[in-house]
Amino acid sequence: MAYKIDKNKCIGCKTCVGVCPAMAIKATVDGKCSIDKDKCMGCGTCAAVCPMSAIDPDL
Ligand code: SF4
Ligand code: SF4
Repeated sequence: MAYKIDKNKCIGCKTCVGVCPAMAIKATVDGKCSIDKDKCMGCGTCAAVCPMSAIDPDL
């Protein structure tokens, strides 16, 4: 299962980028971040550190 970022909540702090063991999170042109669901291992680490609670399982 992959995780996803809610662009309406993300403030682009990039805290999630550095903690992802799969390097699945990248900054995007809108100044926010997005998760490559093909790389995401579903560990949930990014969701745990996001200050805006913008990351959730992509159900
Ligand atoms: S940690 Fe949360 S608010 Fe910060 S860039 Fe990642 S998704 Fe956006
Ligand atoms: S759930 Fe884990 S592997 Fe997936 S994007 Fe977040 S930190 Fe990376």
